[in-house]
Amino acid sequence: MLDRSLCGKRVFLCTPYLTAVRGPFNFVLCELPLEMGENMSKRLKLVSATESEMEERAFNNPFPDWDQGASTASNSGTDSDCNDPFDENGKIGDAFQKKVQNKIKDLLQQMEEGLKTADPHDFSTYTGWTGIAFLYLQLYRVTEEPSHLQRALDYVKRTLRNLNGRRVTFLCGDAGPLAVGAVVYHKLKNDAESQDCLTKLLQLQRSVVSSDSELPDELLYGRAGYLYALLYVNKEMGPKTVDEATVSKVVEAILDSGKNLSKEEKKSERCPLLYEWHKKHYVGAAHGLAGIYCMLMQPGASMSQETLTELVRPSVDYVRHKRFRSGNYPSSLSNETDRLVHWCHGAPGLVHMLIMAHKVFKEEKYLKDAVDCGEVIWQRGLLRKGYGICHGTAGNGYAFLALYQQTQEKKYLYRACKFAEWCLDYGTHGCRIPDRPYSLFEGMAGAIHYLSDLAAPEKSRFPAFEL
Ligand SMILES: [Zn+2]
Repeated sequence: MLDRSLCGKRVFLCTPYLTAVRGPFNFVLCELPLEMGENMSKRLKLVSATESEMEERAFNNPFPDWDQGASTASNSGTDSDCNDPFDENGKIGDAFQKKVQNKIKDLLQQMEEGLKTADPHDFSTYTGWTGIAFLYLQLYRVTEEPSHLQRALDYVKRTLRNLNGRRVTFLCGDAGPLAVGAVVYHKLKNDAESQDCLTKLLQLQRSVVSSDSELPDELLYGRAGYLYALLYVNKEMGPKTVDEATVSKVVEAILDSGKNLSKEEKKSERCPLLYEWHKKHYVGAAHGLAGIYCMLMQPGASMSQETLTELVRPSVDYVRHKRFRSGNYPSSLSNETDRLVHWCHGAPGLVHMLIMAHKVFKEEKYLKDAVDCGEVIWQRGLLRKGYGICHGTAGNGYAFLALYQQTQEKKYLYRACKFAEWCLDYGTHGCRIPDRPYSLFEGMAGAIHYLSDLAAPEKSRFPAFEL
């Protein structure tokens, strides 16, 4: 993720190009057809690449994979620590949980210290203060410790003073602070303030559904990111907090937009819901089809079974067919390079779409593809970009938690623990330092969020995405 001036606007851009050639002003000029993967012969092709460009994107996974046999052996007393996060009952053991809890305390302190020099005006969930409030809400959810809720309130107050009306989404716009504010005040039983946030949140709806609005549909800046805010409020405050008609209008606007583009590009048969962001058909969770389809398939979006079957299912299948042999997915429909294994671009985002599709359409093929995502993430998911949520190891770890919830297979919980174990050594692997190193989606707050979810892995939720 980097800042980039695009069409005169300053936006966060979660592009597939991050280690491609950069021109002056740190803009990305072009995408090189490079695979920064593990394969030496491919790397040798990069004759003109600089040293840093040749750097691989992921570390080799040093952990032994889950071994059912070793687990049994361990239970019978044979010496084996291959599955060491677990106790004799196959649950995450106390020793591991203790390590995680201690690390959370340590990282929280570092984060608070680091935030003293963070941008005071960045109120976003993605890189700013709402993300920190969101983290404290999560810690309150997991521990029920009232001081965390109080801390969430401190940060939320700061964000609510900084709204600027420029964007409407949960991750990058006003909907984030307003939705998180509504929930924090609700939990503190301050109904007047909570209602005030809700009213302002709903006022944003007009620009979201307006047919002449230039708004995109993706999660970071578009309609799906506003839809998430509504569904989040309903999840946290009760199912009718935002009425169904309001939710439906937003859903309809997303459907209309997708149908129109699909028609324009003569894809109505193959992919009835097509979306673009800055003229590209992105596939991943942050800017692309997977993130949008995920939101549409949420039970709270209340789509009819008919619409799901006629519009969403063929579109999901269209994306499925773009899959690489490795099990990974391209960053956009026209990109044929198997490079990125991030939540924002690649299998760690797609896995959530596939699991939702499995829940909604009850077909094994979706789960099978999700399982394949799990393999590529296990192999290539310990990222050199760091430990964050958007394009870091913590975000990738959520794929295993989601697979665990869906399959109940211990293997995925084990893998989630190993990615957590990696995060326990935060900062020691020589990863790149993100621009906002303490933030929820780029930095430390995201890793803390992930670690905190291991306390109750069956209830874990990818922040600002899963409901
Ligand atoms: Zn990213």
